[in-house]
Amino acid sequence: MSEIYIPVSSGKINLLDLDRDGLVGFFDSLGEKPFRASQVLKWIHQQDVADFQQMSNISKSLREQLERLAVITAPEVVLDELSDDGTRKWVLKLSDGNQIETVYIPESDRGTLCVSSQVGCVLDCSFCSTGRRGFNRNLSTAEIISQVWLATRLVNQENKPGRAVTNVVLMGMGEPLLNFDNMVKAVRIMMDDFAYGLSKRRVTVSTAGVVPAMDKLGDVLDTRLAVSLHATNNELRDQLVPINKKYPLEELIPACHRFIEKQNARTRITFEYVMLDGVNDSDQHARELVKLLKGIPVMMNLIPFNPFEGSGYKSSSMKRIEQFSQILINADMTTVIRRTRGEDIDAACGQLVGKVEDKSRRHRRFEKPRFGMQV
Ligand code: SAH
Repeated sequence: MSEIYIPVSSGKINLLDLDRDGLVGFFDSLGEKPFRASQVLKWIHQQDVADFQQMSNISKSLREQLERLAVITAPEVVLDELSDDGTRKWVLKLSDGNQIETVYIPESDRGTLCVSSQVGCVLDCSFCSTGRRGFNRNLSTAEIISQVWLATRLVNQENKPGRAVTNVVLMGMGEPLLNFDNMVKAVRIMMDDFAYGLSKRRVTVSTAGVVPAMDKLGDVLDTRLAVSLHATNNELRDQLVPINKKYPLEELIPACHRFIEKQNARTRITFEYVMLDGVNDSDQHARELVKLLKGIPVMMNLIPFNPFEGSGYKSSSMKRIEQFSQILINADMTTVIRRTRGEDIDAACGQLVGKVEDKSRRHRRFEKPRFGMQV
């Protein structure tokens, strides 16, 4: 189990990096019993205690050992923004100076947290502003689960009754399936009864279609899957979601069928489809979509395009989106039009940019040419 110990710069282990198995291994190395893992998970994630001295069911000598060997540290919240519609966005500064974003979307019956999995994204989808800022690195397990930890604390401070975070969607910055191991460990913490206890219906991993990792995901985790589809033929999908060149529709769609076969019969796959005016929103596209997804239990999520400067796209009109959705509904596809949330604070889908020390240099491609003197 040695690979689970991820030392922080102080040379200490950040316990937020460890899921149950990791904690069991850690305590085992100290000659302690596995139940310590449950105790510590509960202190950290349910009781909001990050100070070892307050962990009252742990012996004094073990508390002192923990002080010496471990820390519990989350990224720093550098911005906390509230949208007119109640959506909240946090910008988190990581220890290396990069910044990521997390969005909390409260609704009457649930609180959904949109979590980032990478600093930036390598995928370069043409309609997504995260992709344009380039990529720096994968987030650690601690950096992923910290988003849930911080959101739970910060929302609870508002003193609203009920559980703050009831659902998690890995739909923030990055491609979760390209950060597979760290993401899986973080999701295990989300689903652990001694941590957040989220059921499998309440955690959604979203992918642009990394086919081999979709198969692996079905083997190791029992969560919901969302697939960012956005096009019904390879020619168009190659342009919108370039990873399609590597894993085209004839590989992606069978992977969706395989995922469903591994899960129990009641699961559906969510398909995300951004509505781009004049690009992918015709009646013909809707009919192709019905054909393409035939036989897969689906939840179609039509997303009005969220504009950003220089994107070159426009959202389809609401009337067009409704007509498009009607074709899907008539073919018995469960379809929802996603309501845009948090647009005024740039918290909507595809608007999360953080502050990425870009290693891919991609952002340069989109920089405006500068004429004359810079002021
Ligand atoms: N990489 C993963 C996780 C990101 S999820 C994935 O692609 O699924 C973010 C979702 O928002 C994706 O469905 C993405 O396609 C969508 N999105 C990105 N930019 C958008 C924009 N400008 N308007 C609306 N939706 C967008």
